[in-house]
Amino acid sequence: MKPMGTIPAAFAHAPLVIAGENAEHWAKVAGDTPLFVYDFGVISARIGTFRAAMPERVKLHYAIKANPFASLLDAIAPLVDGLDVASGGELGIALRRKPAAAISFAGPGKRDDELTAAIEAGATINLESEGEWRRARAIGDRLGIRPRVAVRVNPDFELRGSGMRMGGRATPFGVDADRAASLIESILTGGADWQGLHIFAGSQTLDVNALIDALTGALALAERLADQVGTVPQLTNLGGGFGIPYFPGEMPIDVMAIGAALGEAIEQSPLTRADGGFAIELGRWLVGESGVYLTRIVDRKESRGETFLVTDGGMNHQLAASGNLGTVVKRNYPVAIASAAPDAATETVSVVGPLCTPLDRLGDRVTLPVAQAGDLVAVFMAGAYGLSASPTGFLGHPAPRELLVGTHGG
Ligand SMILES: *Cc1c(COP(=O)(O)O)cnc(C)c1O
Repeated sequence: MKPMGTIPAAFAHAPLVIAGENAEHWAKVAGDTPLFVYDFGVISARIGTFRAAMPERVKLHYAIKANPFASLLDAIAPLVDGLDVASGGELGIALRRKPAAAISFAGPGKRDDELTAAIEAGATINLESEGEWRRARAIGDRLGIRPRVAVRVNPDFELRGSGMRMGGRATPFGVDADRAASLIESILTGGADWQGLHIFAGSQTLDVNALIDALTGALALAERLADQVGTVPQLTNLGGGFGIPYFPGEMPIDVMAIGAALGEAIEQSPLTRADGGFAIELGRWLVGESGVYLTRIVDRKESRGETFLVTDGGMNHQLAASGNLGTVVKRNYPVAIASAAPDAATETVSVVGPLCTPLDRLGDRVTLPVAQAGDLVAVFMAGAYGLSASPTGFLGHPAPRELLVGTHGG
């Protein structure tokens, strides 16, 4: 038997209830399994926590790539101050929901047509390199539009305890901190509309002190750069990287503590006195815990003394839960048998998807209530980097359904 992560407190289980209804209800609403159900009540509570914890001057941006489901974007867009996008496709869906001034476009390898779309719309391009600046400037000249640009800085520190480090080393992301000032100067003299700085050190951290160090480190770096170029950034995007507890023994982060520490640093900052603004960009922490992936057991079988529950969806829809997205060792996400009563007898089983690969495993030797073909399995923590980060084309099963449920616009 191997342990699994903790089921988020928002979901009553044994039997599972999502936004006041049981799992079979949502499967019926969706029309079929497998499906993702996102409880917007969980997301609006997160936004409320952020607002209560953070200084008013710190804006909240949603990083669309965590979950670009259209209904979810419709609901979240009015509650956040900005949308961060990472492709021309995401730019298009963001522009349907926010004014261009509230959209920033980061990511390496922006093509000329993507830069053109951003410049025409008036979205902020977070420049990832000097070369990208030269291309943006040339496109702006050709169009007769002053591009709005910010500089993404590869910080000279990294986010400790991060599941995905994106700074403090050689990376394709941003311009190294010691070259940022000269790039900013070239932007200022080149006549572009300089929006500010973008400093993102990493993702999925549960260490509050590391998060505080990264955010205050980003602030200090922004102060240094402002000093070097003699101009205060209108907006300093301090990054984020707030993690959520997927695995056994992991604990949620204390956002109030982060807000208190950041508030103190910001209050003393020369950027604040010069009326500079700040943003934190979050994906996973805002939406990750809202999602439940529901997949139906098709077969129950034994092999060499082990029991397998074979479901109609797996890593093709929820790659991260199978342990194949950014992790080395397969650990178990929280899973449940949706309809099981609290007093049900349990057994140790592996929950596997329908794909012909041993990688397709949603639960590895987990203890669950005894289940049969026809029962629904719930895989939690499915709201971020779920469907959009999964290889849906692999083996050609139908796409899963998606539902946004719960309190809308909270
Ligand atoms: C992916 C990404 C985010 C969102 O990260 P989360 O871990 O989902 O909060 C924020 N900023 C940038 C630059 C990113 O690439």
